[in-house]
Amino acid sequence: MKIALCPGSFDPVTYGHLDIIQRAARIFHKVHVAVVQNPNKKSLFSLEERLSMLKEATRGWANVEHGVFSGLVVDYARAQGATAIVRGLRAVSDFEYEFQMASMNRYLNPDVETVFIMTSSEHAYLSSSLVKEIAMFGGDISRWVPPHVEKRLMEKLRRPEQ
Ligand code: ADP
Repeated sequence: MKIALCPGSFDPVTYGHLDIIQRAARIFHKVHVAVVQNPNKKSLFSLEERLSMLKEATRGWANVEHGVFSGLVVDYARAQGATAIVRGLRAVSDFEYEFQMASMNRYLNPDVETVFIMTSSEHAYLSSSLVKEIAMFGGDISRWVPPHVEKRLMEKLRRPEQ
């Protein structure tokens, strides 16, 4: 059984993420999507909120499961029985960071391969940060995130302490 790990911040999950997860789910027997708890990265949504939005967005996807983790991604991959880490690639600007991460992860555990899936053209400039920024200034984000995420984002921006 080939299991892939899809790690990310998902702050919040967008159609760009969902496209990558869906395509990975066609290649691997099982895709484990994991929300990363990174103390160095400030997120708008809590870990639990990010996980719950992700779960709702992928409800009914037969071979997709979820989790959260902190620490080394290769250790978490091993614990889940995953032999691949799937990442999405957008513009050239993603490349340097992803190359660095993939090289380091390969050094840490050569048994876990990083696999890149190229973004679909309609999501090439889509990122969670951009969605948050557009929402903050009252722009329409319905093209980029599922309705339940849009709703949570609007609530969060209205009451940021939640
Ligand atoms: P991280 O902080 O780990 O980069 P993100 O939530 O920003 O977490 O992204 C998780 C993964 O999803 C990354 O591999 C990222 O490149 C990919 N991704 C995010 N947005 C898109 C998009 N619009 N198209 C393709 N891949 C994307």
